[in-house]
Amino acid sequence: MAKCPKCGEEILFLTEVETKETTATYYGSNDYDVTGAQIVSEVWSCPECGETLFTSEEEANKFFEEENNTRKEVNNDGLG
Ligand SMILES: [Zn+2]
Repeated sequence: MAKCPKCGEEILFLTEVETKETTATYYGSNDYDVTGAQIVSEVWSCPECGETLFTSEEEANKFFEEENNTRKEVNNDGLG
């Protein structure tokens, strides 16, 4: 299972937050016609502690891939 590098909790998924900039045509009287949307920022965070862990999908994918490739027990050896 993947562990959050910030809080150490085991997490099965990441929370993805997108910030979008939308473009719309306004006709007045609260009548908007959305004509476009562009993602201006996208982050992947830990569902346990809420810390931002990754800022690209590539990094987020690596987090899961590494977990699948290295099924090792990580021991706390008291270093540091
Ligand atoms: Zn965390």
